[in-house]
Amino acid sequence: MPNNDAGRKPTELLQLLGDEFIETASNAVEEAGEPSYRVDQLRRWLYERTPRSFKDMEGLPLSLREHLDKIFVLHPLDHDLEQVSEDGTRKFLWKQGRDGGRIESVLIPDGDRTTYCISTQSGCPVKCTFCATGYGGFSGNLSAAEIIDQVVQIRSLSQQAPTNLVFMGMGEPLLNFDDLLRSLSILTDPRQLGIGARRITVSTVGIPERIRQLSQAFPQVKLALSIHAADPALRDELVPLNLKYPLDAVLDAVREHCANTGKKVTFEYVILPGVNDSREAANALTKKVRGIPASINLIGFNPFEEAPYSKPELRSMIAFRDSIQRNYPGDVTIRRSRGEDIQGACGQLSLKNSPAS
Ligand code: SF4
Repeated sequence: MPNNDAGRKPTELLQLLGDEFIETASNAVEEAGEPSYRVDQLRRWLYERTPRSFKDMEGLPLSLREHLDKIFVLHPLDHDLEQVSEDGTRKFLWKQGRDGGRIESVLIPDGDRTTYCISTQSGCPVKCTFCATGYGGFSGNLSAAEIIDQVVQIRSLSQQAPTNLVFMGMGEPLLNFDDLLRSLSILTDPRQLGIGARRITVSTVGIPERIRQLSQAFPQVKLALSIHAADPALRDELVPLNLKYPLDAVLDAVREHCANTGKKVTFEYVILPGVNDSREAANALTKKVRGIPASINLIGFNPFEEAPYSKPELRSMIAFRDSIQRNYPGDVTIRRSRGEDIQGACGQLSLKNSPAS
């Protein structure tokens, strides 16, 4: 945290939308008595070169760097821990400077693709029964700056720019909607991170009105819906937000999203052996999503101590996939599990490293 001897509250630079950034940076540069072209230098340093600190911004005069350090916060997240999997997947654990909440992000290399999986909340209030994040409690929403800082710091630490970005880390993005929208603006603004909206996916368990608003605000951003069960009673149990927003209402919003944007969605389905992987469950799923332009992604449950489920055998996942595929014209794929040797799915690293564990 910079020393603020001017007595004014430091501004979080990564929280600012494009126009706000230009105005705020222009004022700071003027205060320091520097010419206006320094604003663009600062912009390029911030979003293209992702420095660890203002001190690293070579090419800017020292007096300007010192001034920026006094009036701005550069990184709202502290880098706490990092693990690297045998398959190259890298998991990052951050601490919020503000109140010490823990946040996870993941970098997944895959051939030409580098995907960042980022979080929108510290923990998650939804408490899905198969999700480590749900068992870890909920500390609060992340600010847009904290969402963006995951991208900026991963890029700085890894030196691997993202080709794709998924909001699939800790938290339900549509429950932190204002900061989700703000962060999407900053991520896609060509003056800022300039990541193509088509390369960004928002994954949700489903809040109908927010799905409609998201597809209006960012029609190019892809949508993934975590279904996990088509049977209402089972989905109520696995995904408690289903009690408030039942799947049928969510799927109505998804149909509108597809009609309005012309885009396919992805349905995510975690396989829990003996719970949601029967032939009846497959039939219920295909009946529910028939007619929606989509692909279905099956994910094997990745066990952790607190959850009462086991790891599915590959052959039972293949059998479930085949049961779906018999009645479903879209793609059905089994997602390759990544980073299993470093506490697998999102939330597990944080759960293992929480103060209570
Ligand atoms: S699966 Fe998503 S919505 Fe459910 S508890 Fe985990 S992070 Fe929250």
